[in-house]
Amino acid sequence: MNFKNFGFDSSVQSALSELENNGRIPHAIILESENKDTALDAAKYLAMYAVCPQSDKPCGTCIHCKKASLMSHPDISYAYPEKKSKTYSIEQIRSITKDAYILPNEANAKVYVFEEADNRLSVIAQNSFLKLLEEPPKNVHFILLCENAQRLLVTILSRCTVVRLNQKAKIDEKSLENAHQIVNGIISSREYDLLIALNVLSDKQISDETLFAVRILLRDGLAISVGGDFLLDGITGKKLASRFTKEQIIQMIELTQSSAIKIKQNININLLTTWLCGEYRRISWQR
Ligand SMILES: [Zn+2]
Repeated sequence: MNFKNFGFDSSVQSALSELENNGRIPHAIILESENKDTALDAAKYLAMYAVCPQSDKPCGTCIHCKKASLMSHPDISYAYPEKKSKTYSIEQIRSITKDAYILPNEANAKVYVFEEADNRLSVIAQNSFLKLLEEPPKNVHFILLCENAQRLLVTILSRCTVVRLNQKAKIDEKSLENAHQIVNGIISSREYDLLIALNVLSDKQISDETLFAVRILLRDGLAISVGGDFLLDGITGKKLASRFTKEQIIQMIELTQSSAIKIKQNININLLTTWLCGEYRRISWQR
């Protein structure tokens, strides 16, 4: 990837370079950033990368790159909600779906960028969009910009490569360690291990970040079980994928997400951890 003259800082550069594999980028990418401008700049850059025919791309000087930087390339679309609406309509997603299967006009690839996808894609729109992600047309890239990717459905998340663009938003070591203990507790068949690991949630300062990390680890398991890429930890992901079915992992992610919400609602923590432990175990025993 050529970063000369693009002005990204080193953390963004390294996050974006992770996307490149053999001169290609994934067909579905989520760029997560608290800063909308950073996310949009990164999306523009990736779109340019996708349409630039040069080997050291994006070259920044060819006709494709120039059009891309002016946001006037016919094969790069920025989806905006229709007038007065805050969200994408189902019709919009349907017309994008149709359009995505039409060959590119000038470049060898097509790109669709969705800004504020976590706010603008309703659950119905996401389900409709999911079909497109399941059978992606060739050489088409979808780039979803989010402030918090966890707001999207796990089924969408599991099919996308998620990139966090702010260094600040990286998970701190303590939370990650806690999350590993919880996930190892879920994988092990000893109830006591899981209950002990869940005790860390009593510290409200770190419970949110810990559960966030648990979701990412579970998501890695889901990604590996559907042949996708992991974000944090491939080894734990493989253990999860071999121990549980895709459906079980999805249920666990949803459970984790709902307990994070419960903690915010000031539920009694001892009750929550006991309940959560029971629920994780109930899901893991399902056949
Ligand atoms: Zn170029």
